[in-house]
Amino acid sequence: MPSILVVNSGSSSLKYQLIDMSSEQTLASGLIERIGESDGRAAHRAGDSKSQRDVVVPDHAAACKIMREAFDSYGPSLEDHDHDLVAIGHRVVHGGARFFEPTLIDHLVKINIEDLSDLAPLHNPGAVQGISATEKAFPGLPMVAVFDTAFHQTMPAEAYTYAIDYDLAQKYRVRKYGFHGTSHRFVSRAAAEFLGRPVEELKQIVLHLGNGASVCAIDGGKSVDTSMGLTPLPGLVMGTRSGDIDASVLFHLARKAGMSIDDLDELLNTRSGLLGLSGVGDSRDVQERAEAGDERAILTAAVFSRRVKFYIGAYQALLGGADVISFTAGIGEHSVPVRAAVLDGLERLGIEFDAERNAAGGSGIRVISTDASPVTVLVVPTNEELEIARQTLGVISG
Ligand code: ADP
Repeated sequence: MPSILVVNSGSSSLKYQLIDMSSEQTLASGLIERIGESDGRAAHRAGDSKSQRDVVVPDHAAACKIMREAFDSYGPSLEDHDHDLVAIGHRVVHGGARFFEPTLIDHLVKINIEDLSDLAPLHNPGAVQGISATEKAFPGLPMVAVFDTAFHQTMPAEAYTYAIDYDLAQKYRVRKYGFHGTSHRFVSRAAAEFLGRPVEELKQIVLHLGNGASVCAIDGGKSVDTSMGLTPLPGLVMGTRSGDIDASVLFHLARKAGMSIDDLDELLNTRSGLLGLSGVGDSRDVQERAEAGDERAILTAAVFSRRVKFYIGAYQALLGGADVISFTAGIGEHSVPVRAAVLDGLERLGIEFDAERNAAGGSGIRVISTDASPVTVLVVPTNEELEIARQTLGVISG
């Protein structure tokens, strides 16, 4: 049975999952954290067995060695022919305008990913380090890069063009790229399959509401617009990111509060969103405080859901009406009150949600709109690792 190892390598962490491609089940998963620091940690899970240990992880090469050892010690063995490891799929955050599909990694591809680091300084360098380390640890094994931006390369120019000086934007590659593409692709295809309709026939809006959050308008299976941009900062309100704001807020704060570019970057990326507004970055904590009557948490929850609603309206207009709206990721899959707040009052847009279905819970794909609703609303669990594994297998199978 072929299996694929999916690796998500950041600057200080390496996450992995071994997926059996016949059953599409996860055989093992793990997380190695605090690479380059003195207090590293490694966790590995295979079936019911779990292991966790403190271990110093000086660099990504050491992280790969720890990952291999975990498979040797706790299984399943990577040499075992029952789980024939055929390739490694790497999640890469930024593919710029160069990569519009999953790509077999060679020296040139690596140079290109590295070259895109100025667009994703927090993400792409870690991915390159992970790729180099796994190349050494698994010599000869095909490796495929799957880009978060690739799915959005189908956006038309009027969607990805910012209305600033055209030549300046060209020179510095300033445009909307969009992220979460792997999730938006997986969810839109899973929704079509669930409804028994060809994805080519459907107009869809996918709401990926996790710690990072984005919306995607998908026409006939292709992304036509999305809420993130040059970086994963704009769009929806997120755990610690502001989402859309008036750019002149930055000039104002620079002039009046004496904040530097780095201060402002840190403010909008790590001290804003749910955390900045309410003091807590986890949506469950916001909800808990809101239910206890905390005014700031009530405002935070309202700002969050209003922004999602805003994008539903915008993307319905862009699509000329949507057939399906899907909620996914941590908040989208699990938060009954957030879904209810987002969907409340949208009947005139053809969106009639069913409060009982919304509250019923469950783990698989489910409908939360009424049977009569012109727009079908779904909850669709995302699985980015499986999508990366599928795309990786697709590339190596030609
Ligand atoms: P990431 O972007 O880090 O992958 P997730 O998709 O795991 O994030 O989403 C994290 C968010 O999901 C958090 O804000 C968390 O509060 C929310 N979440 C997770 N589980 C639940 C739940 N059972 N009910 C409500 N919110 C949840």
